[in-house]
Amino acid sequence: MLTRAELLELLRETDPARLNALFDRADQVRSAHVGDEVHLRGLIELSNHCVRMCGYCGIRAANSELVRYRMSEEEAIACAKEARALGYGTVVLQAGEDPKLTREYVTKLVTRIKLETGLAVTLSLGERDEEDLRAFRAAGADRYLLRFETSDAALFARIHPPRGDATRDRVSQLRLMRKLGYEIGSGVMVGIPGQSFSSLADDLLLFAKLDLDMVGLGPYLPHPKTPLGEAPLGEVPNSEEMTYKMVALTRLVCPEANIPSTTAIATVNRATGRELALSRGANVVMPNVTPVAYRALYEIYPGKACINETAEACQGCLARRIASLGRKLGEGPGSRQRSRSR
Ligand code: SAH
Repeated sequence: MLTRAELLELLRETDPARLNALFDRADQVRSAHVGDEVHLRGLIELSNHCVRMCGYCGIRAANSELVRYRMSEEEAIACAKEARALGYGTVVLQAGEDPKLTREYVTKLVTRIKLETGLAVTLSLGERDEEDLRAFRAAGADRYLLRFETSDAALFARIHPPRGDATRDRVSQLRLMRKLGYEIGSGVMVGIPGQSFSSLADDLLLFAKLDLDMVGLGPYLPHPKTPLGEAPLGEVPNSEEMTYKMVALTRLVCPEANIPSTTAIATVNRATGRELALSRGANVVMPNVTPVAYRALYEIYPGKACINETAEACQGCLARRIASLGRKLGEGPGSRQRSRSR
């Protein structure tokens, strides 16, 4: 395991040869621990309603200019069936923190998706009560994604104001999810105004400490309708290269984790971002299966890649990109595999 000092040095590294050595090492560790299969997860953006006031996020409650939508159960089921038809092994149900996605709604939806498609179900619905998390798990939800966004508590409090008295911290939520039997995923944004290299090193150490099954990383992308949108960037650039460093280092500290090549990376480099992340530690892609009419409205940041392609077109494009790397499309649910020795 890399030490904090070594992580910090690599996070600050700018020498191209040394960076290439880091990227190659991450690619080797990826190949040795999770193989050459690239797992596809169909992303269903269920609702863009949100009661939270996150300083970075375009679907925050205070953005009154955004047209809001929430899928009906039938619409969501149709997306899951499309994901199944395209050969994906998992669907990810993501949304803002929407109180109308009630325990009953989510439980029924998960039950039906499991029954009618047999796919693995990942939830990404923000912070929820223990009773909700228990009910979703009992209905068959397999995994939960909740990024802690930054391990710097003061920075997190600034960009993610708590809501009322519900001060659930995200790390406790992740520990609870693990206890309930979920595979757990988290991650951070790279280049948040006010973020430090030293906090990124702590983020990596926390990924390892939590033994995350999934880690999602993307550059922070300013949204003009948010308080953080105009803030000057700090010492960490929100660049493509900085994000690849985090992807590669995440692979080194969490060799068995499923790591997506995210849409935010594809947004900063539409031509080759997906491929570069897959060559520097990532092994998962999350193609969007949200109906095109809703996709543009799930605008967490501007200029999101792949918002106009149909799910089918997305599938073809990704399959080509994956084949061009000499990698294979994953089959089955693509769960985290634990090695016996650990
Ligand atoms: N409400 C859910 C899902 C949020 S969207 C939740 O809070 O967990 C999923 C992820 O998008 C967030 O965790 C965040 O890391 C990322 N995101 C949001 N706004 C962003 C921005 N402006 N730039 C880059 N990533 C952003």
